[in-house]
Amino acid sequence: MLLSNSLTEHFRLTDQQKSALNKLGIKTLRDLLYHFPSRYDIAGGEATITGLMSGQEAAIIGTLEKLEAKKSWKSRVPMTEGYLQDATGKIKLRWFNQPYIAKMYASGTLVRAVGKVTGSEGKLYLANPQLQKISATEAGLFASQKSPEKKEADFSAISDLFAVYPESSGVTSLWFRSAVKKVFDAGVLDNSEDAIPAPLLKKYNLPTLRTALIWVHQPKEAKQADAARKRFAFEEVFMIQLERQRERVLQSKEKSFSIEATHKDIAEFMAEFPFEATAAQKKAVEAILGDMRAGHPMSRLLEGDVGSGKTAVAAVAAYAAVHTRPPSQSFGTLQVAYMAPTEILAKQHFESFIKFFTHFPINIGLITGSGCYKFPSKVSGGVTNISRTQLLKWVANGEIPVLIGTHALIEKAVQFKHLALVVIDEQHRFGTNQRRKLAKKDKQLPHLLSMTATPIPRTLALTIYGDLDLTLLDEMPPGRKRIITQIVKPTERKAAYEHMRKELETGQQAYVICPRIDEPDPDKAFALQAKSVKAEAKRLKKDIFPEYEIDILHSKMTPKEKDDVMAQFSNHEIDILVATSVVEVGVNVPNATLIMIEGAERFGLSQLHQLRGRVVRSNHQAYCFVVPESKGESTMARLKALVTAKNGFELAEQDLLQRGPGELSGRKQWGISDIGMEALKNLKLVEAARTEALALIKKDETLAAYPLLSQLVDERARQTHLE
Ligand code: ADP
Ligand code: MG
Repeated sequence: MLLSNSLTEHFRLTDQQKSALNKLGIKTLRDLLYHFPSRYDIAGGEATITGLMSGQEAAIIGTLEKLEAKKSWKSRVPMTEGYLQDATGKIKLRWFNQPYIAKMYASGTLVRAVGKVTGSEGKLYLANPQLQKISATEAGLFASQKSPEKKEADFSAISDLFAVYPESSGVTSLWFRSAVKKVFDAGVLDNSEDAIPAPLLKKYNLPTLRTALIWVHQPKEAKQADAARKRFAFEEVFMIQLERQRERVLQSKEKSFSIEATHKDIAEFMAEFPFEATAAQKKAVEAILGDMRAGHPMSRLLEGDVGSGKTAVAAVAAYAAVHTRPPSQSFGTLQVAYMAPTEILAKQHFESFIKFFTHFPINIGLITGSGCYKFPSKVSGGVTNISRTQLLKWVANGEIPVLIGTHALIEKAVQFKHLALVVIDEQHRFGTNQRRKLAKKDKQLPHLLSMTATPIPRTLALTIYGDLDLTLLDEMPPGRKRIITQIVKPTERKAAYEHMRKELETGQQAYVICPRIDEPDPDKAFALQAKSVKAEAKRLKKDIFPEYEIDILHSKMTPKEKDDVMAQFSNHEIDILVATSVVEVGVNVPNATLIMIEGAERFGLSQLHQLRGRVVRSNHQAYCFVVPESKGESTMARLKALVTAKNGFELAEQDLLQRGPGELSGRKQWGISDIGMEALKNLKLVEAARTEALALIKKDETLAAYPLLSQLVDERARQTHLE
């Protein structure tokens, strides 16, 4: 048995199990051992059914009886009811909104049920209990732990923390526990090689792979599980860092066009801006020019709140590139590609660039799915619609030095003569692979400037953007009116609508954001009160704002439908846009100056901040009404941060600490496991992993002396780049 062996070589699996394991991404024995428990239960804390008291949280071992899906007779809420029986008695079990539970367990199944004892004397029931199937041996083990001698003799070393795994139908925690045991018993761990160099383990006091695997799956005490998880967290961040840092070293050896615009050139260009650049913008420009001068590809991420002026910085970088004298006469001019995630954004950038370059005329192209444009037209001097073929020709022969566009930019047919700089706006919207595709358009690697308005915590930035240099635009242009953010209590809803009406009357527009698209899904408890885009749009039109145009926007619409609605909103054919969080990214409708966010507590703070960013664009006073469903103290306290925080980064840090890493939007595309995400709460650990990875790559950039490490890093690289 080897860790790299496929599971099917050693386990007889049903089709259902195979597909469940597949879903969990478990193919090899290594995958199995790296499928970590999501939590641990303490055995031995069980109560007996006789003696339960209302209000108590209890764990009970017993057998299930007669589970049945029903509807509650009053509110018609779907539910499951049944009984749990142990040696001392019987208690009712009740799950609200989870009718499917009835089908998951047969009568007679032995389980450990954990839930709250609810109801009054004589009518007690366990509310929404968690069930964990257990074997008879396990049940015995629980029983033995309850024996008083054992408790007294060795209470601190209760030896059976019970691993509870992320399950999928067919593979339960019980299955995982026994599968892991089988692998351990076969002695696989004895010849498992540790990828992390021993001196590092020692330095950070981390357990070896062998020990950590045992501790994470079969801990004798919580401390062991904690130590093991810390090791795996370190391991994951270390691997990601190695991969990113290796990439970075390789890149730094590549050649790129050396951009030679002088400070004087740049100062002249910026002097024509209709505003004075902020100190943060100037600093960013310095860093970018420094990178591009060096003759090796720049990889820089510019992170700045919505409205912090990233486009102007991109324009300066573009100017520097096209202004650089090519090495020889025949060479044409250096080129810039600027990619945005949506057509509307691409058009906006096109228009901004035309303005920024007013005094330094160059040809600028726009390519999107729905058409191609060029500025200036040879005839009219304005923007002109040209054929795709014509545009591609002028890009290929270098006549168009700056090309702005959507994904259409990546297509094979788009060929540059001398692509020197790639700018990617809202870069998190593109996969690593898409970014790379654009970057590989020419024989020489271009400089890469990524931009994002998504504030992410520092630890996350250090990890996933380990191969990028980071510049923060942490300052807003002066004179912007601070957006007025108000938390609206249920009793204040009417007043909020009246305020909105005033704004609409003066010709402004508004957004209303809802957490859901459709009518609530009756199977899900949380959905019961959440407002949906479709229903809310209808209600607003019928009951509140019959005199205004209202339309909707959500992710299930086609790109064309979305673009059309946005265009109509942009042209003020729509007054109120009711939308899901899809409007979060980038779109600029300066006339929209009020945003009302329903079910606000369902969003992360940084997401709320992003949404609010939709209305900071103009000089008109903007408002953000945050409407929570509940008025619990903790909800209110959390939302208050929106009023007080200085910028999006602060809010992202709060999200990480208060709601946990799972809340950070976009986590899927980063390829980080739950344990890795947990690690992001620990700045020290992330910094240590990063420092060590840097040191190792510096010493041995191909990891030649660490074959296993090198192999694992390769695998990870392949996975992230395939996406
Ligand atoms: P974002 O960072 O969200 O992409 P933009 O680049 O779209 O921001 O800039 C938002 C607005 O602020 C634009 O209208 C832009 O012209 C303006 N702007 C940018 N920099 C400054 C500045 N230093 N002073 C005043 N206005 C600025
Ligand atoms: Mg922008």
